Amino acid sequence: MPERMGTKPAPHRGGRAAALAVLAMLVLTLASALSAPQDARAQDAPELDLSDEEVEDLLTFVVGNTLFTLYHELGHALVDMLEIPILGREEDAVDSLAIWLMVPEEPDPVAEAMLLAAAEAYAIAASHGSADDLAYWGEHSLDLQRFAAIHCLLYGSDPDGFADLAQAVEMPREDRDRCPAAYAQVEANWLRVLAPHLRAPGQAGGGRVHVSFAEPGPGLDPLLRELVEDTGLVQAAAAAVGEELVLPRDIPVHFVDCGEANAFYDPQVGEVTMCYELVDWLVTVYLEELEERR
Ligand SMILES: [Zn+2]
Repeated sequence: MPERMGTKPAPHRGGRAAALAVLAMLVLTLASALSAPQDARAQDAPELDLSDEEVEDLLTFVVGNTLFTLYHELGHALVDMLEIPILGREEDAVDSLAIWLMVPEEPDPVAEAMLLAAAEAYAIAASHGSADDLAYWGEHSLDLQRFAAIHCLLYGSDPDGFADLAQAVEMPREDRDRCPAAYAQVEANWLRVLAPHLRAPGQAGGGRVHVSFAEPGPGLDPLLRELVEDTGLVQAAAAAVGEELVLPRDIPVHFVDCGEANAFYDPQVGEVTMCYELVDWLVTVYLEELEERR
């Protein structure tokens, strides 16, 4: 549908105001929970009293990274079930999809902060030298390349609007010159391959993306589930993919314990697994970074 070609097929914008209202309430809940005794805290997380602003940053960091990972894994699912041709590395292609879907069409500080949180996580992973410890990062481009890719595409989406960001991360001049074209190419190519699958106005049918949340098991904080579930952003992002695209079948997304900080798409069963250990890792490294900064 040509009139839809200019819009992104999986907007994170749908219901954002409602989601952010929930987020604001959750921030208050978390603020008291995180300053409560250890049984309400992420395992091994340092003892910290968090300000309201820090709780909000923590939530942005965790939800932003969770969304990025979800889009990345759904990217693998789309490549598989829509038989999207990938020339080059699939990991890089689905990273580009995740970045593109998270770049806001209009300036939006919360959406930008969530995408930049994913870049920050790569910078932290790189500084920890944790590629071997954290299987999620293993088969992908180097962490700092992924950090750079996020900044490049976000900057490229609006070079004037993100001039300060490029300055802050000392983006080289040659990257500033090439990133707008890189972003335009990512957008054009994903729109081209998704175009045959975009839902026409009023069109029914097709599979949906459903998210389920198991209770985190022994050793994992029950709050991890609330962290990713209660804002509703993860469910809204997943649902939007099934609303905007006509999928050949459902894509279940399961938040569960995995025994490792990871996320997977399994082409055998056509399901996405998101590990609570990854969410736990995000909380832990955020709090560690915060402690180091103090
Ligand atoms: Zn991947």
